Order: sequence, then C-alpha cells, then structure tokens
Amino acid sequence: MISDKMKSMVANSSVIRAMFEEGKKMAVQYGADHVFDFSLGNPNVPAPSCVKEAILDIIEHEDSLHVHGYMSNSGYEEVRQTLAEHLNTLYGKSYSAENLLMTVGAAGGLNVIFKALLNPGDEVITVSPYFVEYRSYAGNFGAALIESPTDPDTFYPDIEDLERRITERTKILILNSPNNPTGVVYPESVIRAIGEMLSKKEKEIGHPIFIVSDEPYREIAFDGIEVPWIPDFYRNTVVGSSYSKSLSLPGERIGYLVIPSEAEDFENLVAACNVANRILGFVNAPSLMQLVVARCADAKTDVEFYDRNRKLLYKSLKDFGYTFTKPDGAFYFWVKSPVEDEREFVEYLKNNEQILVVPGRSFGCAGWVRIAYCVSHETIQNSLPGFERTAQHYGL
Ligand code: PLP
Repeated sequence: MISDKMKSMVANSSVIRAMFEEGKKMAVQYGADHVFDFSLGNPNVPAPSCVKEAILDIIEHEDSLHVHGYMSNSGYEEVRQTLAEHLNTLYGKSYSAENLLMTVGAAGGLNVIFKALLNPGDEVITVSPYFVEYRSYAGNFGAALIESPTDPDTFYPDIEDLERRITERTKILILNSPNNPTGVVYPESVIRAIGEMLSKKEKEIGHPIFIVSDEPYREIAFDGIEVPWIPDFYRNTVVGSSYSKSLSLPGERIGYLVIPSEAEDFENLVAACNVANRILGFVNAPSLMQLVVARCADAKTDVEFYDRNRKLLYKSLKDFGYTFTKPDGAFYFWVKSPVEDEREFVEYLKNNEQILVVPGRSFGCAGWVRIAYCVSHETIQNSLPGFERTAQHYGL
C-alpha cells in the first residue's frame, strides 16, 4: 500500500529515535534514575525567561489577527529585518529582510534550499560522520548523498578527498559546524581551503556549487572558540539555522535561512525558496514563534550548563581510558568503540549499565559511538560508574 520509497525508509527508520523509545521503556522497567539516556539531542536547559515573557506579552498585547494570521511565505518582514540586523552586528554584514527566510526549524530550511537547488540525479556531498537525516533530505528531491570521509585524527573535512568526489552533478556541499555527532568546530583555515577548492571546481564544471551551512549549534561553542561565518569565505553559501538548540525550542520548529545577496542568481534563489516553503506544505514558519525569536534575538542559552557536563565527561572518560575527540561545540562526545563493531559496545552498555548511546554507523562512520550530553548533570554523574566498569570489562 505505501510507496516503495517509504517502505525502505520505514524499514531503516532512525536508530536514534528507536533508542529514545527504548529508553522510555527502560525507565519504566528500571526506574528513570537508573537509566542513562544519551541518545537524543534534546536540550535539557530550559528556554531563557525572555521566551515566556515574549509569548505572554505578544498574546496579551498584539493584534491576534497579526499574531496568528498567514503572512508572506518567507515570514514577517519586521522579524526578518530584526534578525538580519542582529547578524549584521555579530558578523559585520549588511543583510536585510530580503536575505532571510523564516523556516520550520533547521530541518525545514534544509528541505527548502534543497528543493530550490536540486534536480533529480544531482549530488549533495557531505563529510562523514554526518547528521543522519541528510540522506533522506537529498532523497526527497531525487538527489544522491555522497559521503566524503573526514580526517580520522581531527574529524575535519579532507579537502583532497572532497575535491575528488566533485562531479558535474555536484550542486551542494553540506557542512555542519559545530558538528553533530563529533562536536568539532571547523577552524577558519579549513573553511578557507574548502572555499578556494570549491571556487576552482565551480569554474571547472561550469556551474555553481553551493555550501549549505547547517548551523543549529553555532551558539554552543566552548572556551571562546570562534565559529567562522562561512559566507565570509565563500560566495555561494546559504546558512541554515534554528532556535532548537540555541534557545532550547526544538518542538516549536522555528529557524531561518540566510541567502546572501552575492549568491549566484540571488533573486531567483530567494523566489524559489519562498515557493518551496509554500509547496512543501510549510506555507510559513510558525507565526507566534517568529515574533518571539525576534524579541529574543539577543538571548542566550546556558552554555555553562553544557560546559559543566562536557568537562566532567571529558575528565572521566579520559581517566577510564576511552579514546574520543575533544568536543569544542554542540553537545556530543564522539567516542571510539573499544571493539571493532561498535554495536556490540552499544549493546553492552545498554544491557549491563542501562546506558544508551548511538552507534556511529547511523552517522555513516562505524567503530565510534555518540554520547549526547544535553542531559542533567546528575545523569552524567550517576552514569560514570557504569562507564568505568565497561572500560574495565574491555581492558582499557
Ligand atoms: N542539523 C543538525 C546537525 C542537527 O543535529 C539537527 C537536530 O538535531 C538538525 C539539523 C535539525 O534541527 P531542527 O530541530 O532545528 O530542525
């Protein structure tokens, strides 16, 4: 009955979501305090107080027809202008409302820009490990996702490998920094080198290659590390962001795309994104939340909360003998499995210690696991003996 395409999608449905469901069942079986669920990137920090204040004030004082009505498919103009000015202050740019399109989270934004750019048979390149949904998003528009392995020491993109994988069908390179699942932040030198390589390849193949920079974790970066603004280094960049992590609003589905005016075929691209937002069925991003995020443009999530978890896990995992990448951003640890097949490690942690982590192969990179540390500090503290016993079991 269901479509052939969906049959395989249902069969391969997200491992992460499956683990999350399993975590809920285990919580009933063992008690919530005895299950350590590091599977899902669901922020444990409450939204900043300005979110609640803005919601109440808007509902109370603004015209309800305006608050709840349809608007332009790209979103309220005054909201886009406010957010553009915020970006201008941060990055010294001169964006205006016309450069922004409000979207249904980062996921909605990625689907909009993919729909606007991709023909069936086109290729989207990404670097592995990568956010699992990219394959489905490319598949939504008949495009193929091409994986380029990262440098295993740094998990930065391997620029020579990327270059080798570019063909005449390549339309998009999707980058994600701070990265899910590794937590690495790509430095300026890497972004600059990618930009130079792509500019050369665009000339060779005779059409633009867009960087789509997927940035829901931009605001979560530690130790003062800079997250480069990619449009500064490469002309054909579209930035997709959201407030899912930066204001802990994942269920509200609110985000935006930034399309710089210098991007190739700018006016048509903006028009295509508008239509895409409409015909994908989003129509427009949630109206109340657009107004809320404009009022909270300067608000920040509690990065300290994540940093405290990060520091504790960093020290403990190191002491126990695990190998992992140093996370500079987002809220994930990327840990090497002590056995070749990381699914065995994942099962061991689950069955013996009630610790849930995600196998790396669901991010296109076997042999590693992801720990999402956007959980309470107590969950981390209480999970440590289990991580330690497991390290001993594997002789680390
Ligand atoms: N991109 C990455 C790398 C993510 O980790 C996520 C969510 O976890 C998304 C996109 C989707 O974000 P949103 O909930 O804003 O759609």
